Amino acid sequence: MKSTRPYEVTRRSRDHGSGRKAIWIRCPFCAVEVKAFVWSLSGSGKRCECGALFGARGKATKEQNPEARS
Ligand SMILES: [Zn+2]
Repeated sequence: MKSTRPYEVTRRSRDHGSGRKAIWIRCPFCAVEVKAFVWSLSGSGKRCECGALFGARGKATKEQNPEARS
């Protein structure tokens, strides 16, 4: 089962050197802060260590298996 939650962007900055725009996302599933490049988000998305996938429109999706843990 797939679950979707809106994520929060906590910071924005520009990477020194490359000049690429980066943002920090607060994962709505595990509360970890993840750094992602904007171009990467609008492409295939950015995956959190917990398995959630951040998309370009402020939404994170994660496969949930309710039977895996009780
Ligand atoms: Zn996460």
